[in-house]
Amino acid sequence: MIANDYLIKAMDKEGQVRVTLAHTTKLVDEARFRHNTSATASAALGRVLTGALMMGSDLKGANDSLTLRVVGEGIAGSVVATVDSQGTGRALISNPAADVPSIRPGKLDVAAIIGREGYLEVIKDIGLKQPFVGRVDLVSGEIAEDLANYFVMSEQIPSLVALGVLVEKDLSIKAAGGLIVQAMPGAQDSILEIIENNIFNLGPISNLMLVHENLEGILSELFANIDYEALASLPLEFACRCNEERLRTIFTSFSIEELQEIYAKEGILEARCNFCNETYQFSLEEILAYKR
Ligand SMILES: [Zn+2]
Repeated sequence: MIANDYLIKAMDKEGQVRVTLAHTTKLVDEARFRHNTSATASAALGRVLTGALMMGSDLKGANDSLTLRVVGEGIAGSVVATVDSQGTGRALISNPAADVPSIRPGKLDVAAIIGREGYLEVIKDIGLKQPFVGRVDLVSGEIAEDLANYFVMSEQIPSLVALGVLVEKDLSIKAAGGLIVQAMPGAQDSILEIIENNIFNLGPISNLMLVHENLEGILSELFANIDYEALASLPLEFACRCNEERLRTIFTSFSIEELQEIYAKEGILEARCNFCNETYQFSLEEILAYKR
């Protein structure tokens, strides 16, 4: 078992293949706990969040952010994760209760709740006037395949993506992690074949997170028979950027009469953050003072 959530990046010595490998068990469990997700919804949420965190680690600026949205016609609705360059991320799913029977024990049917029709969207805000937006149709609704397709179609980078979330009977997260392998321009087919073969032999990514003590051990097996070097390491965590001030703005769209009505009924004005499910409570005086 790996103790902490983090990711590592590595590349073969000839610079042909880049690998990002992430352990995300704790942060996916926190997302699961905060959103009270079903087993299948946890897997969908965890896969999207893990994928987004790996992609976000390529952002350069301290204030850059990346949002990964998967919107299918399935019962899950949309699954959205927003991350920054420092390894923190948050995520939401429209329907946290979305659930279907497993394909087989341990194999949750994420595609069934996402749906096979829909799109995957990546929004990168790197401080330019307009954020970069890339969108591709879903190919399977399993997320990893859809993300690999995004890299090929939108960024022209041949990629292999694996995302895994293992859910316990009590719905806690037993293991979660992800892997992105990307071919650099001019990469030889032979090295890609070796790595692809190594990955196949390694087995499911979530299982790797359980049997290894650290990501470095998985990396050495992934690069078996290839010289490589580790490039960077980044701690990962679930963290939201919401605060009282931000959530208070929700009430600006209400009229004073509406606010008085809600307050008379509830005794409090409450706003909930969609990304972390944290609630913020305000008195009527506070909001009216703010509106003025
Ligand atoms: Zn929040």
